Amino acid sequence: MQYNHIVIRFGELSLKGKNRRHFESQLRETVRKKLAPFKQAVVVKSYDRILVEINGEDHMLMIQKLQEVFGIHAISLAIHTENDLSAILEGALAAFTEARGTAKTFKVAAKRSNKSFPVGTMELNREVGGHILRATEDITVDVHKPDVEVKVEVKDNGTFISCSTFPGAGGLPIGVGGKAILMLSGGIDSPVAGYLTMKRGVRLEAVHFHSPPFTSERARQKAEDLMQELTRFGGKLKLHIVSFTKIQQIIKEKIPASYSMTIMRRMMLRITERIAEERNAMAIANGENLGQVASQTMYSMNTINEVTNLPIIRPVVTMDKLEIIDISQKIGTYDISIRPYEDCCTIFVPAAPKTKPRRDKAQLFEQKIENMEELIEEAVATIETVLFEEATNKDDEFTNLF
Ligand code: ATP
Ligand code: MG
Repeated sequence: MQYNHIVIRFGELSLKGKNRRHFESQLRETVRKKLAPFKQAVVVKSYDRILVEINGEDHMLMIQKLQEVFGIHAISLAIHTENDLSAILEGALAAFTEARGTAKTFKVAAKRSNKSFPVGTMELNREVGGHILRATEDITVDVHKPDVEVKVEVKDNGTFISCSTFPGAGGLPIGVGGKAILMLSGGIDSPVAGYLTMKRGVRLEAVHFHSPPFTSERARQKAEDLMQELTRFGGKLKLHIVSFTKIQQIIKEKIPASYSMTIMRRMMLRITERIAEERNAMAIANGENLGQVASQTMYSMNTINEVTNLPIIRPVVTMDKLEIIDISQKIGTYDISIRPYEDCCTIFVPAAPKTKPRRDKAQLFEQKIENMEELIEEAVATIETVLFEEATNKDDEFTNLF
């Protein structure tokens, strides 16, 4: 007997009723898309979990792909048998032998939700344990801290036996949490912010501001490559590229250098808000962090935030840089983010931006931009939208998340 099923368990099971049905169907849909390259595999619904029939596909590769899906708490490899004691014993031994490695101790944990099965839980533990002990050398039972736990679940649709469980990505299935627009620079923080926002079930679209010819094609390429990487978690993703050159030049001309960064960020936020309205998004996500640089002080956040009433999701706001870097390495965006090309902010930023910009001053300076509304409209009207989809080749390289 071989592993023939993957069992997917959900996280955050407190959800009830209609929400829970919605949650589960979103997750099943995502799992189906994720496993589409595995042509023989079949995703089936089961009462409180999702089952995947492996049908000869590479199960370890499938598990690694499933570890990119939010809303999954744990993933197990399982042998599915009929509700028949001798089949269960054979299956348990096969699963144990496959998973054993160098293990010296084990325990059996049986559960029986199908009460018509004649063997009780305690007896099943004993039967299965005894069978494994008789057939295996150099192994003992340890009920407290076993190296391997053999789970045996007798259900209405058969018995599932598993010894290998892998952690899922956690979070909530994408789609249950509404939509947000992610402000994606080419830096380290914003892709991590995007990942963490999606982790809470939020569907993303992203906006990137670029300023040709002051910023190169390569800077834009960076944003596009980051989006491609994020599709592993988000599926299809749209990136709206805003041509920001004209606005930046006007800011440079009319705004005192110490406030140019603040005004630039306020303009970005206004445009992002407009995009959010058009795209039916209810929030904005960004990679802002409370730190030492001028654009990242609480004063600065306060003054920039003034121009929108939309909630701003800042998943990395309180993290240390090293924590953010750690996540970016795990999700595969770090190497792209550290490519050296300048983004539009770095180029126009003055040597000494104000670290404590004020709302009243920002408003005053902005009055010098007479045609602000037109500029925003033009920027929104000339947006270029690029669609990214996850590569469907199952042999693609991927980073191991855990
Ligand atoms: P990141 O690493 O994400 O670039 P950062 O530490 O460099 O962040 P800032 O440059 O102050 O911080 O940017 C703060 C946030 O503003 C970014 O995380 C991003 O969400 C947004 N942002 C900055 N530049 C751009 C841009 N060119 N296009 C879209 N969003 C941007
Ligand atoms: Mg940056």
